[in-house]
Amino acid sequence: MKTVNGKHFVIPPEVKVVSETLKKAGFEAYVVGGCTRDLFLERTPKDWDFTTNATPEQIISLFPETFYENNYGTVGVVFETPSDPSLKVVEITPYRLEAKYSDNRRPDSVTFSNNLEEDLKRRDFTINAIAYDVEKGEAIDLYGGKEDLKDKIIRTVGDPHDRFNEDALRILRAIRLQAELGFTIDATTMTAIAETGKNLGNIAEERIRDEFTRIIMSDNPMAAIIIIERLKLLQYIIPELEDGVGVTQNHSHIYDVWEHSLRALQHAADKKFSLEVRLAVLFHDIGKPKTRRETGGEVTFYSHEVTGAQIAYEILTDLKFPKQICEKVSKLVRWHMFFSDTEQITHSAVRRIIAKVGKENIWDLMDVRICDRIGMGRPKEDPYRLRKYHVMIEEVMRDPISVGMLALDGNMLIAEFGMMPGPKIGQVLNALLEEVLEDPSKNTKEYLGERVKELMNLSGEELTKLAEAGKDKKELLEEEEVRKIRRKHKV
Ligand code: ATP
Ligand code: MG
Repeated sequence: MKTVNGKHFVIPPEVKVVSETLKKAGFEAYVVGGCTRDLFLERTPKDWDFTTNATPEQIISLFPETFYENNYGTVGVVFETPSDPSLKVVEITPYRLEAKYSDNRRPDSVTFSNNLEEDLKRRDFTINAIAYDVEKGEAIDLYGGKEDLKDKIIRTVGDPHDRFNEDALRILRAIRLQAELGFTIDATTMTAIAETGKNLGNIAEERIRDEFTRIIMSDNPMAAIIIIERLKLLQYIIPELEDGVGVTQNHSHIYDVWEHSLRALQHAADKKFSLEVRLAVLFHDIGKPKTRRETGGEVTFYSHEVTGAQIAYEILTDLKFPKQICEKVSKLVRWHMFFSDTEQITHSAVRRIIAKVGKENIWDLMDVRICDRIGMGRPKEDPYRLRKYHVMIEEVMRDPISVGMLALDGNMLIAEFGMMPGPKIGQVLNALLEEVLEDPSKNTKEYLGERVKELMNLSGEELTKLAEAGKDKKELLEEEEVRKIRRKHKV
């Protein structure tokens, strides 16, 4: 038990073991970076990072189970605790020197040092550059990090211009830390950000994605994105988002597309919704600037959800998000308009939307809608109506919503009805599904079997018409548009 700011806190046993082991072998050992920052903020550190004058080889020789597979000298020490099935990893990195950066991306080479001071000097912000000896309870704070923590200030170690020129990602890290911690960026640091911002254009998408994700997942994403926009940095992250600035909407909207999207996102953060929901909320109207039309004072955004789904997919793939995330977010954007016709919701309409967005995404789609509404400046959804949607979704969740859930399948059509394998099988099944979406009680082998006998003799065209019977005209037009876009992008 040690004290920080007069308060007691617990250092986990594996962290003590690492410190003792390094020191017994004659090395120095300090925890540093995010974990020390969290300790002084009286938050529980997520993970523990040590810095030491031992080399990777020396570190590896001191611990029974380690892994070492990166270019920065970091050795992971693995701990198994009998009472806890999860493995614990403590990372140890040798003191490093700030290396030369010729491309504001990555150091040209990594050089180790035997001097703690040099290691602290290369770190980005004063609050991240405090070294702490967990056994003695002593902090080495060469840049006033503790003071800045107290004042809630983010300030670079050394000259901010130099530091942002070395590695432009630090710009986003400053904004991310501000959003996560609720701190303020020091004025000189802020000026340097404005002046060196264009270097962000040289940063690898993956690194931008990781910091952007943490900004979105913070408690204050709206304020952070506004700062990014004011600093003219959005063009290096999500240029399409900027297009919503000043895009006014019709009478039901008091905000432009930009402010509406940010307010909606902030609500998603307030509700602690998942990354996918937050991204879908941020991008749900990203198709509006491109689809805006004004005729006789009336503003329309026809099919903005179709265009938007495509744009969201492209933004996320450009940022190298995993495919599953790109697809899910794009789907949520595509179908976010469903709940706008709240008066007309029927069970069959709910079944159709579940068929489209997928059972696994339907609750997330509801959350997107909740944020959309709040982002419009409307009062919270009437709890009675919200409850009604929930009940309806739950009621239809067990009903058949895909061809695979029909009481008949393609093999039966061949074996029992003598149909030939081929595209017609799919057309018949889709026509049957259409009837079942309308009325799930028709999903019996007897009823569907009778229908098959009638449908078998129809042409492909007639069958397609039946399969789309329940869709309204607008929906069909939109689908045609999606098909066109898909063809264009070959997806
Ligand atoms: P968290 O605890 O939330 O992960 P963190 O500050 O530990 O935040 P990391 O990315 O894990 O963030 O980095 C660990 C430490 O390494 C930082 O605290 C900082 O001292 C240093 N660091 C990380 N990235 C950079 C960088 N681009 N330039 C300089 N120092 C950096
Ligand atoms: Mg960390």
